[in-house]
Order: sequence, then structure tokens, then C-alpha cells
Amino acid sequence: MPRIRFVGRRAAALLAAPFALSIAQVPSAPAVPAVPAVDSTIDNGIRMLVSRLELEKYKATVKGLTQFGDRRQGTKRNRDAVDWIEAQLKSYGCANIERMTYEFAPTPPAPRPAGAGGAGAAGAATRTQGQGGSRMRGVRTRTGVNTDSLAQTDLKLRALNSEPTTPGQRQEVVCTKVGTTRPDEMYIVGGHMDGHGWGEAANDDGSGTAIVMELARIFSNPDVTTERSIRFALWNNEETGLNGARAYVAQRQALQGVENPRGSGTYPEPKWLGMIQHDMMMFDHGMPNPDGTMRKEQRPEADVNIEFQSNSKMAAESQKLAWVLHAANEKFATDYPATVGPHMTNTDSGPFQDLIAAISLRENQRGAEVGAGWDPQWHQVTDVYATYDDADFRLGLNAAQTTLSAVAQLTGAKVKRP
Ligand SMILES: [Zn+2]
Repeated sequence: MPRIRFVGRRAAALLAAPFALSIAQVPSAPAVPAVPAVDSTIDNGIRMLVSRLELEKYKATVKGLTQFGDRRQGTKRNRDAVDWIEAQLKSYGCANIERMTYEFAPTPPAPRPAGAGGAGAAGAATRTQGQGGSRMRGVRTRTGVNTDSLAQTDLKLRALNSEPTTPGQRQEVVCTKVGTTRPDEMYIVGGHMDGHGWGEAANDDGSGTAIVMELARIFSNPDVTTERSIRFALWNNEETGLNGARAYVAQRQALQGVENPRGSGTYPEPKWLGMIQHDMMMFDHGMPNPDGTMRKEQRPEADVNIEFQSNSKMAAESQKLAWVLHAANEKFATDYPATVGPHMTNTDSGPFQDLIAAISLRENQRGAEVGAGWDPQWHQVTDVYATYDDADFRLGLNAAQTTLSAVAQLTGAKVKRP
């Protein structure tokens, strides 16, 4: 039977190849390097891309975002920041810069049930259930959003942040690295450019926005090609309930993978392969002290927390993506390790989690740690550029190294040799 003969021939070929190889290797005693040559070429290319991430450039981008104060959605300072981000992306040569428009008409907040929200003094002693299915342990401090303008003692910053938000039209900006052989497929790399709390939203989420912008800069360099596409998304309205990312999913989900115009080879909305979100990237000073104060320095054990949501439809795919980033961190990140956890929550990857592989990178676990008050600047007047030192900024840089190297692998990135 032809079928059997075919299988037999293939099996023979498979057997013959390694046999022939082992005979050829016998005369030379030195061991063959374990890493295949082709792999190390790819690694060298990725290493070159990672080396283009610089602490000073990352800091400068965070600083640039803080000139617009807390960038609260529905204000001029927010719109000015969108304009500035767009101008930066343009200067990097990032392709297909788009403004996405949506309406934001907030409904008045529902009254909070007793015990919900921040870890107030009464609930703190007994409540251990954190958001996203997490469990809180250890010392907790108060959390919440500062709404008191007078808490900001920097008068210039107070004035900058003074315009209140009004409902209405909103915009957010994205740009794309178009793939060479698979332009119809893409990974989405995101951060949210809006903030609140009367500070500068330097960490939440200037730190994640700057990562996305830095990756857009590096992937847009003319000597870099990727087989698949990468979209860089600077979400607006995260702090009001992920409204910018939700609008993107609502407007774009059905357009995935459609060639338009037909026969053009152009795919305005490539098929989504994964979404990688960056939100609060710099401050990992550990558990608060028993008296509620914080360690002054980044803790030596600081790490990048990669989270997926185990209670989502795409949990298996998301976990797989998380481990790809974890492996990339071990190989390419210079200073800080990564940890994978199952409780991704309260960030722009949420609207994607039942549709595609979706993960978030953070300074800490969102549910168990940030939610327990481990970041005292969170939504406060103290979330300003001057609060952070190089060890803090370096954690953000290591998250950038992690995502850059993973996405480079996932999209088949290559750097042209000079
Ligand atoms: Zn945030």
C-alpha cells in the first residue's frame, strides 16, 4: 500500500539523518555547542534591539508625559498629551498612526456596599480577598483616589490639574509596525496615557506609556523588520473603567484580518494574536512596615509581575504567553527577574481576556499587593517624576526589555547588518 510505503520511507529518512550526523562527528572530539547557530543569530539580533533601550531615554519619555500633569481624561491637559504622544510616534517613524474616537458618557457611580473599596481601618484586619481572585496577606495600608486639590502643595502643578473633566468625545492614538510576511497578524502592546489624583501620573501610568513609546521607537527603526505586525496602543480613559480599551474592542473586533481594499495586501486591523499591557511599572518597595511607612529604596528582590487571568476564557493561551515573556526576561533583562501570576485584573488587557491571549506587566501583583496599599503614590499627589530614583526607573526599563525581547521573538524580528 502506497501509504505504508510512504511512512516507511519517511521513517528511514528520519533515522538516516541523525545516524549520518553522529558518524561524521565521531572523529572530532570537542563537543558541539548546544545552541544551534541559527538560534544564536536570532538572539544576537534581539540583544542588539534590547541594547537600544536606555535608562536615560526611558526617563526622558516619562518626564515628557509628566509635563501634562495627571492627564485626566476629558480635559485639555489630556488632549495635549495625546497630541504630544502622536508627535513623538511620528518622529520615531512609526507607521499608520491613527486617532481612534469614541464617546464617554459616564453613569453616576453606584453607592458602595459596606466594606468595599480601599482597605480602610475597620475591614483591613479581617478581609483577605483581593481583586482578580487574589488573596491579600501581611501589612496593608489605605488606598483610594485623591480628589482634594489642596493636597497638592506644588502650586504650579495644582493649577495645571485644576480643569475638571467633562463628558463627551475622547481620542486615543495607536501606531503599527507592519509585518513583512504576515501583515495580517499582530500583537498589541499597550499602556494607558490618562491618570488622576492631582499628581503627574508618573508611575500610573507614565511608566507603562513610556515603555510602549520606547518599543514603538525601537521597532520603527528602518533597519528592523518583523514578519508579523505589532500595534502600539496608548489607551485613554483607563481610570474610568478601561473605556478606551473597551471602545477599541467594540470598534475593531469584527474587522480583524480583513484585507482592505481587497487584493491590496493591506490589513487595517490585523488578526489579534495577543495583548500585552503595561500599568504601574516602577515601584516595588515591598510590603509596608507594620506602622504603615514604606521602605525608601527599591527592594533588592524587586521583580516584574506578569499576570494572566485564570478565570477567563483564554486562560490557557494567556498563561502560555506569560511564560514566553518570563523566558524572555531570563534571557535578556539586565537587572530584575519576572514572576508569573494568575490574577490579572483592573487594567486594559481585561477587555481582551476572553477573546485572545491577554497579560499585564506590573511592578507588583495588582490584586494582592497594589490593592493592599503597597504603592503609597497610587492615585495620589505624590505620583510625580521627582518621587522616583534610578532603581525605580530601572524596574520599568527591565519590563521594557522583557516585552521587547518577547515580542521580537513572537513576531520574527530581524536587524539588518550594517
Ligand atoms: Zn493604571
